[in-house]
Amino acid sequence: MAQPLDSRSLEAAPPALNGAAPLTTIFARLRAHFGPLTGPEAARPWWPIFGTDAPFEMLVGAVLVQQTRWETVEGAILRLLASGLLSPRAMAEAAPATLAGLIRPAAFYGQKAAGLVTIASHIVAGYDGDTARMLARPTPEVRAELLHLPRIGPETCDVILLYAGGHPVFVIDAYTRRLFERVAPTLSPGAADGPAPASHPWRQPYETLRRIIETDLHHSLLRAEPPGADQTAALYAEYHAQINEVCVRYCLTRPRCDGPPARRVYSRQEGRESYLGRTDGCPLRPVCGWYRQQRHAPAR
Ligand code: SF4
Repeated sequence: MAQPLDSRSLEAAPPALNGAAPLTTIFARLRAHFGPLTGPEAARPWWPIFGTDAPFEMLVGAVLVQQTRWETVEGAILRLLASGLLSPRAMAEAAPATLAGLIRPAAFYGQKAAGLVTIASHIVAGYDGDTARMLARPTPEVRAELLHLPRIGPETCDVILLYAGGHPVFVIDAYTRRLFERVAPTLSPGAADGPAPASHPWRQPYETLRRIIETDLHHSLLRAEPPGADQTAALYAEYHAQINEVCVRYCLTRPRCDGPPARRVYSRQEGRESYLGRTDGCPLRPVCGWYRQQRHAPAR
């Protein structure tokens, strides 16, 4: 079950970001541009589910997507489903080599196959094959449990907790770091955990950044009324989806600030081609430090 944030410790902590709540501005601009991506207001589920066991399918997807494009993950999920292996019981009994053949060409498919068999066996042995039951445990306990399983590091763990379990944890991934580093390069995250490095403030350790961002969002977006765990988790899920979308469309390794957005169709899900005809630019240009710097940089 999702647990509420510890509001007393959050209230006692100083605002973590040395700026005027830029995370709220970034979120508002993204949401106005892309529209709601998660929850009941979204036009379609942001995370497409093809089978009948959504928590387990999300867990498998979160493991498979490591170093792998989502298009590849979706293909692997569909093959697992067609082979009858997309359930904890079936996967626990599968030969790793069989699994590896189905999830290929996902990166590290051999290691991921062996890891998934171990994870599935853990769910069968401890929770009678019920992933939702495992994820219903208190956040610190289930987080520690997941982190002890193979192929599950902090980022994968928090994706599973947030989207499959509804726990209020903010996911820090490469997109998050890249986007915030470009939009807010001069901010000084780190107040909550001692002095921040003078350079590359968004490259701090995972847990440090997670705490800083969660504290900042609590002080800004969630301040109006004491948030419940569900409300907090919904905000984090929406924010992460928005970051993903802007990084897939505009803030690529070579940014497409002035558009057009990348035409990548990364899901077979109906409606995902909605960007193919657009020619607009990134909604974060007016608030983006990187963009401002490039525009004012002398031409070479
Ligand atoms: S304006 Fe350019 S650099 Fe800034 S967030 Fe958008 S795409 Fe990235």
